Amino acid sequence: MLGLMQDRPLLISQLIEFAARHHPTTEIVSRRIEGDIHRYTYLDAARRARQVANALDRLPLPVGERVATLAWNGYRHFEMYYGVSGTGRVLHTVNPRLAVEQVAWILNDAEDRILCFDATFLQVVKAIADKCPTVRKWILMCDVDQLPPDSGIEGLVSYESWIEGESDAYEWPEFDERTAAALCYTSGTTGNPKGVLYSHRSTLLHCYGAGLPDFISMSARDVVLPVVPMFHVNAWSLPYLAPMVGAKMVFPGAALDGKSIYELLESEGVTVSAGVPTVWLALLNHVQSVGGRFSSMYRTLIGGSACPPAMIAKFADYGVTVLHAWGMTEMSPLGTVCNLKRKHLEQSPEHQRAIMAKQGRAAFGVDMKIVDTEGKELPWDGVNAGDLLVRGPWIIAKYFKGAGGDPLADGWFPTGDVATIDADGYMQITDRSKDVIKSGGEWISSIDIENIAMAHPVVAMAACIAVRHPKWDERPLLVVMKKPGEQASREEILSFFNGRVAKWQVPDDVVFVDTIPLGATGKVQKIKLREQFKDYKLPA
Ligand code: AMP
Repeated sequence: MLGLMQDRPLLISQLIEFAARHHPTTEIVSRRIEGDIHRYTYLDAARRARQVANALDRLPLPVGERVATLAWNGYRHFEMYYGVSGTGRVLHTVNPRLAVEQVAWILNDAEDRILCFDATFLQVVKAIADKCPTVRKWILMCDVDQLPPDSGIEGLVSYESWIEGESDAYEWPEFDERTAAALCYTSGTTGNPKGVLYSHRSTLLHCYGAGLPDFISMSARDVVLPVVPMFHVNAWSLPYLAPMVGAKMVFPGAALDGKSIYELLESEGVTVSAGVPTVWLALLNHVQSVGGRFSSMYRTLIGGSACPPAMIAKFADYGVTVLHAWGMTEMSPLGTVCNLKRKHLEQSPEHQRAIMAKQGRAAFGVDMKIVDTEGKELPWDGVNAGDLLVRGPWIIAKYFKGAGGDPLADGWFPTGDVATIDADGYMQITDRSKDVIKSGGEWISSIDIENIAMAHPVVAMAACIAVRHPKWDERPLLVVMKKPGEQASREEILSFFNGRVAKWQVPDDVVFVDTIPLGATGKVQKIKLREQFKDYKLPA
């Protein structure tokens, strides 16, 4: 027997209409690329999202087609989140920090039809325009009078001229909630980046989960500033969650330095923020140097890489609680967030700090387990560490276009992280089984780096490992075994990477060794190498 309740699908368009109706005067504040501050309300944002929807229909662009963005966090990007997905098209947020060739590859793989971009990325777009044949329309996210007259990009229009004649009334279509809504590529371990395709249903369920008190706990009394970019897993869902609960939003644009972020936190009364550890290091340094304090922010979500306990302690000195979070692009992204349980409240501050340094507990909706090398489930004792697997309605089933084959093992997604889970359900990452380096929240594929190094005529074998870095969390170190009788300097090897990867992906240093440890199957034993170089001091 089926239940007798209404079968209304969960759709992204409902979020913006809800916010416009219930929180019409709540503000969205953006620092624009031009440097000035832009303010409007959820009511205004909804109107302009409807204009975007009308403009897309006018092209016309069939539903299901991809509309890409190369953009910072700002109000126009926010409007695209709704105008594109709300109509049944797919919003594809592209990471502009990737090398130009990678950006072009991703646009081609996604078969994007439209690219909307910030002026910051004009040169990138110029470089890829004739390499992306599927893109039929190029839109610069700027005012009408800011469009450069001789951009060299055929048919380039400004965002404002594109939507200005459109009606701000629109009947959002109702469709299957499993319809694709947004696409985000993740540059995993090997090969090309893979697309993660979120649905309306997965996005809304994730949003309900993210808002829970032991997760982000967001409400209509909050002011949220996502430092995490809107091209990184939809800014951890904050542009959906804020309208769902009616929180004021503050977008930092391209100014992600400590001083600019601090100014916004203080001037806009931000209560909660979110980002990777690297940006918070810059913020804390700035606040310390000016003798400042946080007058409104009392919690901040930190994830993407392990948050150092010293950072949690420093924020605590300022009266800010760090919500240490773990997740993945494949998980929309939230898996766990760290918060105390009632029984911990009576425990010592040291004990509480030790718990808060863990990656945290799963929200209802995320199933976790840890397994040994044979796939046997390990106990939740906080001691046994194993491969971490997850499943749930906001976790990936397949990559876009089936890339990489079936990613699941018996219905579970292997995260590539190694963790313990204690009896209270607190998960702690202890290692990573996937061969990647995460620098300032961005991936560097060690295998890509090794493949390039191996193409150097002097290199017999190369292995790239992560070395701890105080600012970037991890940086790549290249370990090289030279061919007998051959010579090359560190500088020669490093210059070989120029133009082959983005600048920030070039290893920080090269060490020459006589042998690289190999396992029984001939694979480089990265664990041994990481151990050997665990105290390695990278050049400043
Ligand atoms: P991404 O898909 O780019 O968001 O990267 C997800 C990966 O980042 C995870 O599988 C972890 O390896 C790493 N990661 C994310 N959050 C944390 C965290 N709080 N602590 C340690 N590693 C993390």
